Formats: sequence, structure tokens, C-alpha cells
Amino acid sequence: MSRDKNRIITIANQKGGVGKTTTAINLATALAAIGESVLIIDLDPQGNASTGLGIQRRDRRFSSYDLMMGTHTIDTIVHPTVVPNLSIIPSTMDLLGLEMEISRQSDRVFRLKKALGTPEALAYSYILVDCPPSFNLLTMNAMAAAHSVLVPLQCEFFALEGLSQLLETVDQIRQSVNPQLDIQGIVLTMFDSRNNLAQQVVSDVRTHLGEKVYHTLIPRNVRVSEAPSYGKPAILYDLKCAGSQAYLQLASEVIQRERQRKAAA
Ligand code: ADP
Ligand code: MG
Repeated sequence: MSRDKNRIITIANQKGGVGKTTTAINLATALAAIGESVLIIDLDPQGNASTGLGIQRRDRRFSSYDLMMGTHTIDTIVHPTVVPNLSIIPSTMDLLGLEMEISRQSDRVFRLKKALGTPEALAYSYILVDCPPSFNLLTMNAMAAAHSVLVPLQCEFFALEGLSQLLETVDQIRQSVNPQLDIQGIVLTMFDSRNNLAQQVVSDVRTHLGEKVYHTLIPRNVRVSEAPSYGKPAILYDLKCAGSQAYLQLASEVIQRERQRKAAA
């Protein structure tokens, strides 16, 4: 079966609080709004993507843990969300123990890849994997399963330092378990135009990484941070706010790059 019938994008950064989950939820919502069929896989034991999409803990019978253990398939775990065309495989605290449980097994890095290699996964044109804030076995699984990595980067002083570590890790994954792994793009988050340092970070990141950096800047926006407490993506909570508009713009950049990539292939 061809792996190129859908696009599996891992959203990763080993730092917490940089906007991974917010990007997963809102980019997924924007892609779904454009008509794509989208699946989020919540791979963070904290389960913020699941909560942010209104999936209560008590309703999460099975999770990405069961998917990776191979005891359940996508169709038996998946939840619909408040967004048409957007579904989620939620996470549960079981994920915390997964690393220990599979650490001695030879296929430990390929659990997610195997689970996403089924015909069920082809029902989705985009699969976005929301990673925990570390380079653990969960993140390794996400990188091994993905076509590409999308990196949210917060506009702050240490951003570039963390980014070079991340890019090294992607290189290592490419050399060891997933030769085709691409950088989908780097998205600058929580940008505050009144902050000179943030402006400097944007210009440094663009100088170092050029075309890989999306033109869209995600602004710091209070509506974006309020939305998860209502169990909704910002795009549903307040479509007109600057943060929602930025995520819609990001989705159109992602789609445009996909078209270019396919045309070049
Ligand atoms: P991560 O998944 O990388 O840990 P989150 O997406 O959970 O990061 O974001 C961390 C915090 O910052 C959350 O409270 C979130 O609501 C808030 N946040 C994320 N993006 C924005 C934004 N553009 N404007 C304001 N707050 C944001
Ligand atoms: Mg998160």
C-alpha cells in the first residue's frame, strides 16, 4: 500500500508550552474547514488536545495507548469532534506506562507506524500527531510514522538553541528509522509585535532557515488561549480573532506547499 495517499505530520518540539497542541487543534480545524478529512492523534499523556476538542476523560475508553499496543485499531478508538471532518484518537494516562512496557521490544519505535499503515488510516487526508514535550519513545514513534515534522517555535530568546537540537534529532531519525522524514515547516507562535526581542527572533529564524519558515506568524492572542476551556478550537470559539485568522492562513500555506511538493514529485 502506498504511504503517500495521506499526509502524516508530526507536531513536535521538546519544549513544553510552545504551541504544539494549539497548532495541532487549530491547523487541523482549518484543514477540515477547507474540506480535508483530518485525524488528530493525541500522543501526550497530558491529553490537552483531547480536552481542547471537548473529549472528556470519562468518555475516553480507548486511546492512543491501545492503538500503539496493537489491541485496538483506529476505527474502534476514534472520536468525532465538534468540528465536521475532524476526528481524534484521544490520549489517556496509560501512555505514561507505555514506554516501560514496550522498551525491550524490537519494534518499539514502529508501533505507531504499524497502526497507521492500515487501510483505515487512508480515510484521512491529513493525520496530525500531537507530541509530548520531550524526545521520548512516544515522540520517536511519531517521527518514525510521519512523512514530515512541523515545528512550532515560540518567539523567545532560547528558540534557536532548542531548534538546532530538534533538527539534529530529525536527522538522526532520518539516518536510523525513517529516511524520508521531511521538515514540513517551522511556524512561529505567540508573536507579539510590540516586543523587540520577538521581532529579532523572527528575523534570526528566517535568516537561518529561510524557506522552511512559514510566512504566517501566529500572534499571541487571548481568545486562542481561552478556547480550550470551552472544549473548542479557537476557530470555532472566535473565528474573527487574529489567532484564528492566522491559523486559517497557516492551513492555506500548508496546502499550497503540499501542492508544490506533489507537483515536484
Ligand atoms: P504545547 O503543546 O507546546 O505545550 P500549548 O499549545 O499547550 O503548548 O500552549 C501553551 C499555552 O499557551 C496554552 O495555555 C495555550 O493556550 C497558550 N497559547 C498557545 N498559543 C497561543 C497564542 N497564539 N496566543 C495566546 N496563547 C497561546
Ligand atoms: Mg501540548
